[in-house]
Amino acid sequence: MKVLTIETTCDETAAAVITDDLEVLSAVVASQEELHQRYGGVVPEIASRAHVQRILPVIDQALRQSGQKLADLDAIAVATTPGLSGSLLIGLTAAKTLAALSGLPLVAINHLQAHIYACRIASGREVFPCIGLIASGGHSNLYRCEGPIDFTPIGATIDDAAGEAFDKVACLLGLPYPGGPAIEHAAQRGDRTRYRFPRPLLADAGRLDFSFSGLKTAVRYQVVGVGKLPESLSLSEQEVADVSASFQEAVVDCLVGKCEQALLQTGYTTLCVGGGVAANGRFRQRLEASSAERRYTLHIPPLSLCTDNAVMGAIAIERLRAGLIEPLDLDISPGLVRM
Ligand code: ATP
Ligand code: MG
Ligand code: FE
Repeated sequence: MKVLTIETTCDETAAAVITDDLEVLSAVVASQEELHQRYGGVVPEIASRAHVQRILPVIDQALRQSGQKLADLDAIAVATTPGLSGSLLIGLTAAKTLAALSGLPLVAINHLQAHIYACRIASGREVFPCIGLIASGGHSNLYRCEGPIDFTPIGATIDDAAGEAFDKVACLLGLPYPGGPAIEHAAQRGDRTRYRFPRPLLADAGRLDFSFSGLKTAVRYQVVGVGKLPESLSLSEQEVADVSASFQEAVVDCLVGKCEQALLQTGYTTLCVGGGVAANGRFRQRLEASSAERRYTLHIPPLSLCTDNAVMGAIAIERLRAGLIEPLDLDISPGLVRM
């Protein structure tokens, strides 16, 4: 069985062809980073227009790379939730059109479940049941994952997502978008103990939620000062590095700490981590250390499967196996409605 997967939830236009053995026959990602850089974040209207321009060449390239024709495939799958409305609609329209033309079944992908499924693809073996952490641009969610499409939420951010905090703090420090890689890079030359930023909710072990908005404000007060405007900012390169390293450490402490609390509370012994923030080297290092010390099994995908991609859409195979095929009037759900 071979599936074409399409991903356009945010600002990556991606397509892949994957077999039911999870063999990746092709994978194409067109990133829009350069288009959004000057705004310090994703501009939805620009994202939609860029998806329109890129979707057909990206699908074409994925098919070509895989050596497959549309007629050789067994299904067309597309991420329909959650994401930006305009972005989601472009992917869905392309998928529906291909499904209608070819007569192939249409499969819906939940983008968050796909971020965790990246661990299943990368590991090459079963990873469920597990605790799943998604730390991305729009989400910081913890789940009890009984299976690839059977998630129970156990915690979430009450304000900003972890990736969003990276992006906003980067903006404050004058670093480029996306902020995660920029902060990680600056932090390499920084002292992570120089500033003691708060670790919101970390001490509250009974609660598996995150809060990154106050941390972001604490960074702002530290670097700009209370009641001052960021325009008056003049930090040395070393100060930017130290703030970056100290901030990154605070976020990582919260993420790793809540994963440990979730494992302890549920008695689960496997942790799967997905989403763009899982590409962070310091976070990965701390997770490895935690899993070695606490003796749980850790799965983190390679960097290319952490940020948005279509390969993780292979979760569609699981839905196909469960007989979950969608009608051609399938709609998007920008907010997450089912899990
Ligand atoms: P969601 O998956 O919640 O819908 P999204 O798809 O926009 O959101 P992803 O593509 O999974 O998010 O991740 C993008 C986010 O990951 C950005 O906020 C970016 O700053 C962050 N990120 C990427 N690389 C790193 C890194 N090395 N360190 C920290 N954060 C990173
Ligand atoms: Mg992105
Ligand atoms: Fe994502």
